[in-house]
Amino acid sequence: MSTPLAPQILSSSLEDLVTLFDVRPSGNVLADDARDALVASSPTFGTVFTDHMARVTWTADTGWHDRRVEPYGPLQLDPATAVLHYAQEIFEGLKAYRHADGSIWTFRPEANAARFARSAHRLALPALSIDDFIASITALVRTDAAWVPTSAESSLYLRPFMYASERFLGVRPSLEAEYLVIASPVGAYFSGGVKPVSIWVDREYSRAGAGGTGAAKCGGNYASSLLPQVVAQQNGCEQVCFLDSGTRTYLEELGGMNVFVVRADGTLQTPELSGSILEGVTRSSILQLAADRGYETFEAQIPFADLLEGIRDGSVTEVFACGTAAVITPIGRLAGSDFDQTIADGTAGELTTALRSELTDIQTGRAADRHGWMRRLA
Ligand SMILES: *Cc1c(COP(=O)(O)O)cnc(C)c1O
Repeated sequence: MSTPLAPQILSSSLEDLVTLFDVRPSGNVLADDARDALVASSPTFGTVFTDHMARVTWTADTGWHDRRVEPYGPLQLDPATAVLHYAQEIFEGLKAYRHADGSIWTFRPEANAARFARSAHRLALPALSIDDFIASITALVRTDAAWVPTSAESSLYLRPFMYASERFLGVRPSLEAEYLVIASPVGAYFSGGVKPVSIWVDREYSRAGAGGTGAAKCGGNYASSLLPQVVAQQNGCEQVCFLDSGTRTYLEELGGMNVFVVRADGTLQTPELSGSILEGVTRSSILQLAADRGYETFEAQIPFADLLEGIRDGSVTEVFACGTAAVITPIGRLAGSDFDQTIADGTAGELTTALRSELTDIQTGRAADRHGWMRRLA
């Protein structure tokens, strides 16, 4: 399975940066057969982690320093650590895929790195350079390469994150921050085929408001989405979809996925980035792949009442959600306090299914990467 590394995979300046990560090997790595069995068992998302984590420390005085890959393990935090009180924290999510020849790749990491810098700005955290972001995931993936699953629907989920680490209860941006990357092998998101989900359209709670942190990938947005998510489940739905907080008229997104609407007239629409919607890398890739197929794509507000009417009169044929973890999830039903509507026949639509296959084929190396989205890490 393992092929010799190409002499230079990343640009030479990036390769130089990767070598700045000091690898401090764990003395407690899982034995090969135990690790392979664990990876092959398709563990529940986010429950199993690799032997190491990448880490870089920031202080206002010194900037980013002490780049390293160290044994995965608990962090020791002072009870007064700023993040525990004021939630100054951001994160990212992307995946490493093993291709048939054994090489390891990731998908559009520059887009995640750029978004991480935008999130940092909004949360008044220090910016990490795009190169440092890519070098950190490269250093970790190379150290823990044996953890990248071999089966096609599986991957190694990478979770970069940054938090305010200063021991200080005053309310101002932290003068210290820690950046880490942890990695978790994930199996097929849908075991036994792609299943459409039911979505609760919430009219009481919002995820984000005008001028707030909705466009940043921060833990606080997720904290506010947890109660509505519980309400969704109490109403027999898997996930919640939020409307705009100002008027509760327009579709925004799910707690962690963007939404798309396919119409019988050959158009594909997603809500425009209003400032309270997270700009998904999957979202932008889908806009491109659908345009390549000849669909007319557009980003504009979607009044929820119009969507319901369109589903009822058949002009809306498919609705789906998208994000890195599940790629594309068909939505089979929308429910709320005064409606319960199946979409078309409730099964995964044609375009939904085709785009999902195309995107996963590109990511896993089974289809040509015609947009230059893939980056080889090892
Ligand atoms: C991460 C995230 C998405 C999906 O973004 P991808 O880059 O496609 O993974 C969508 N909405 C929210 C709120 C998110 O946090």
